[in-house]
Amino acid sequence: MSEVFNWQLGRKMEYPYEGAYPERQFAFVFNINRCLGCQTCTMACKSTWTFNKGQEHMWWANVESKPYGGYPQNWDVKVLNLLEKANPGGQVWDATNGQPKFEGQTIFEAAKKSLTPDGSRVLGYLPEDHEWNSPNIYEDNPKGERGKKYEFDKEGTELPIHKTWFYYLARICNHCTYPACLAACPRKAIYKRPEDGIVLINQEECRGYRKCVEACPYKKSMYRGNTRISEKCIACYPRVEGSDPEANGKPMETRCMASCIGQIRMQGLVKMNQKDGTWAEDRQNPLYYLVHVAKVALPLYPQFGTSPNGFYIPPRWVPKEYLQQMFGPGVDQAIENYLYPDRELLAVLQLFRRSNLIIFSYKFEKGKKVYEGKLRGKNVEMYDDTVIAYGKDGKELFRTKVEEPVYERSNKHANSI
Ligand code: SF4
Ligand code: SF4
Ligand code: SF4
Repeated sequence: MSEVFNWQLGRKMEYPYEGAYPERQFAFVFNINRCLGCQTCTMACKSTWTFNKGQEHMWWANVESKPYGGYPQNWDVKVLNLLEKANPGGQVWDATNGQPKFEGQTIFEAAKKSLTPDGSRVLGYLPEDHEWNSPNIYEDNPKGERGKKYEFDKEGTELPIHKTWFYYLARICNHCTYPACLAACPRKAIYKRPEDGIVLINQEECRGYRKCVEACPYKKSMYRGNTRISEKCIACYPRVEGSDPEANGKPMETRCMASCIGQIRMQGLVKMNQKDGTWAEDRQNPLYYLVHVAKVALPLYPQFGTSPNGFYIPPRWVPKEYLQQMFGPGVDQAIENYLYPDRELLAVLQLFRRSNLIIFSYKFEKGKKVYEGKLRGKNVEMYDDTVIAYGKDGKELFRTKVEEPVYERSNKHANSI
């Protein structure tokens, strides 16, 4: 095992290989507050990459209803239980000096405690076939009063916390900085591309041992029975490279991002510090801004230790303990910042899904005040600020405003639809 730095844990951790970091890293932010569970993203991926024989159970992109849903079934509860068994009572964060640090064990560290009798490098489990059957099992099932079937709280839907709640968790491979799938593969068939950090399985080298399926805590590596080879999300790399015919040479967001109806998704390529895998400062990159400056977007189960590159703006209405378990100790601050956004955050949130091309930087221009009033007892003001997005070549991709323009159709065309 080597020692690598995991900024999401605030400490060094053990990993089977030396750290090696790409120049830029594929990353994304999903705003859970906006997801409507329409599954357009799911179908965009399916109809592009996994529509063939033997891939029927394979959903590289899926959207599951939390807290009960999961694909494969109960994946997160199972991994959390394994970790708890390996380190009873010790899976905790220390947030006393402002900089949270994970004191527990990651899936790599816990594996060393020989809970894996076959000497696996990663603590994990292999889901049974039936667990892959339903990409959104328990769809829309809310958490109600404990023990009372079909009985929900009468005043259950008021902020700050809904007493009757559920939410949609959209998931793809996180193209982790310390991929568990890669760490576990005995044939070294999995690699991380130095140019964009996308994690791929070499189909020529894979022999279908399924160690990656067992090791990935997010269960985003999947086995295909008829070819006896494992497959996973490829981050639509021809689009990200700009080599897809639709991209015209420009880096383009993936299929699941581009198709998102709820406009919850933004994907990018963030600059990395190649010495330790932290993000290099890039203040005007929208993903850097959302994760490191506005601090509204958090990694999914950072305690697993893979340093996932998918980040989520947590849902405002869900009990905090549940969210803290899922997104770590930054939850309270992220929700507060999202509930009462400052001018820049409100402007950056308008960048989501205005273009299918990858945004490399943005500029923010102040506009006039358009609203002032009270929101949940706090004074709030809104300004019609402008946000301008730029592509890889530094050229403007588009500009948009905080206030949505209103167009009135003339009487002449009142019924022309
Ligand atoms: S999410 Fe899973 S499959 Fe994807 S890179 Fe991370 S460990 Fe590998
Ligand atoms: S990035 Fe591409 S391959 Fe990956 S889940 Fe999204 S659509 Fe599928
Ligand atoms: S397309 Fe967007 S809004 Fe619809 S389910 Fe997927 S992530 Fe949610």
